[in-house]
Amino acid sequence: MKELKILYLYPDMLELYGDYGNIQVLKYRMEKRNITCKIDQYSIGDAAPDFSSYDIVFAGGGADNEQSILAEDLVKYKENIKQAIQNGVFFLLICGAYQLFGKYYKGVEGNIIPGLEIFPYYTEAILDRKKRCIGNIVLEVELENNKPTKVIGFENHGGQTFNSLSHFGKVLYGNGNSFGNSEEGFFIGNVIATYLHGPLLSKNPEVSDYIIKYCLERKYGEKVELEVLDDTFELKCREQMLKRLIK
Ligand code: GLN
Repeated sequence: MKELKILYLYPDMLELYGDYGNIQVLKYRMEKRNITCKIDQYSIGDAAPDFSSYDIVFAGGGADNEQSILAEDLVKYKENIKQAIQNGVFFLLICGAYQLFGKYYKGVEGNIIPGLEIFPYYTEAILDRKKRCIGNIVLEVELENNKPTKVIGFENHGGQTFNSLSHFGKVLYGNGNSFGNSEEGFFIGNVIATYLHGPLLSKNPEVSDYIIKYCLERKYGEKVELEVLDDTFELKCREQMLKRLIK
């Protein structure tokens, strides 16, 4: 039986708006297809993980305070994480975690939370605490060449991210990387870093299957056609949301 291993980073600190749902969705969609899903968790104080021994690394969103506490721990793994990304391990990073993989996060008081500096972007909090990018968001995303799809989520961030260079999606509704921006997130084949909570994968089965397919093909070295699942409810929800927001 095929198996994929997920590493869930800082579950006790990064879990805003149901981000853990992303892991539940991946597990559900794997098990429906008879693929075993193993989940390990890592929190501060645990034994150092070897990131390259996983197929998927996941980290969710968190408030500035949590981010500043765990940044110090995370940077210890910079080289190991960099290596895993180069090896093709899939990274799904939501909101606070998205910010932490960039150059830095500058908080409201001007304090700098160091990032892993693996990706080129940086984030600066908007100085007015009451002003945040909050609400539903819809993107147009090209997961595979010439196959655009709509990705739906919910954003809530004061941080404004600049210099993404390789964005995840074009914003059709909502803000994205910064107020009124037309671009959202950061995307390279094996990394999706995004502000979309929701959780992202429950609202977007296509994104889940992109990740599962990518990981199976990488691990087993063969072309994969995933069994089609019954997504009637998911599709109905999507239809409703899209009608409400962009049609
Ligand atoms: N602290 C970050 C911000 O407000 C991230 C928030 C989040 O993860 N939702 O920009």
